Amino acid sequence: MAGVNKLIKCTGEGQGQCRRCSEKGKWNRAWMSFLYQVVINDELKHGVYCYECAQELLAGATGGIINNIKEEN
Ligand SMILES: [Zn+2]
Repeated sequence: MAGVNKLIKCTGEGQGQCRRCSEKGKWNRAWMSFLYQVVINDELKHGVYCYECAQELLAGATGGIINNIKEEN
């Protein structure tokens, strides 16, 4: 049985930085409400990600099939 892949919208005040952008050396600070946590195959990935990176992580993990992504508040 396949695990769950989904994005979880971050909540809270303040700003965070996309972990993937940061690893690429790109400065991408954003308000928490614009950042996401990523669950791939039931496993919560460390860090928070901008929407674009979160989508790419999910697409990579699911072979490009991203139509079953759930966004949660
Ligand atoms: Zn990013």
